[in-house]
Amino acid sequence: MNIIFLGPPGIGKGTHAEIVSKKHGIPRISTGEILREEIKKRTDLGKEAKTYMDTGGLVPDELVIDIFRERIGREDCRKGFILDGFPRTVTQAEELERITHIDFVLNLVAPHRVIIERITGRLTCRKCGAIYHAKNIRPKSEGVCDTCGGELYQREDQKEEAVEKRLELYEKRTKPLIEYYQRKGILKDVNVEGGKGEVSERIGREINDFIKSMGI
Ligand code: AMP
Repeated sequence: MNIIFLGPPGIGKGTHAEIVSKKHGIPRISTGEILREEIKKRTDLGKEAKTYMDTGGLVPDELVIDIFRERIGREDCRKGFILDGFPRTVTQAEELERITHIDFVLNLVAPHRVIIERITGRLTCRKCGAIYHAKNIRPKSEGVCDTCGGELYQREDQKEEAVEKRLELYEKRTKPLIEYYQRKGILKDVNVEGGKGEVSERIGREINDFIKSMGI
């Protein structure tokens, strides 16, 4: 089962892709996460990517495609995978099609104001990457990760100015992918307004319907 989670930054792709990944035992591949690891390790790739990421820009296609190609070639992807944050441009989608097959695309949708509120309130654990929200998913102790005790911080690209730029870029570069996959007849919209549990159930139903339709 090869799935893409599509949608603007901040809509909750990562959170929900992770839930589906655990439930179905297939890896979630987040190019954003891989790039953040490279930044942490201070590799040349990380240093280059950081200049684009901190200001809310997109990392050049060639770099992201190379990262993706390496990741998808690993053993754990053989039974399927969930893509979170890739592809983000039509060029990436076309290249993806040359590399592997996609069965199903879930397009997460919500009003603009909901997205802004979700993303600018987000807090990330420096150590394990767990995600919290200043209003909606508060840690038990302020500024500290419930799971590993790591420090919670606001990512540079989740500050208001960068978020506006990322949303603009989404409209221009990523939104065309909705039509791209609609034309292939494999895209389904899911409204993600509401609580995490409720949304997760909605997404779960879509995935189960898809699995039934595939006969797997
Ligand atoms: P994410 O964690 O998916 O929100 O990604 C964080 C940042 O990483 C994005 O704002 C981009 O700068 C960069 N990035 C992640 N995935 C891609 C991609 N597929 N194409 C270009 N840039 C990406």
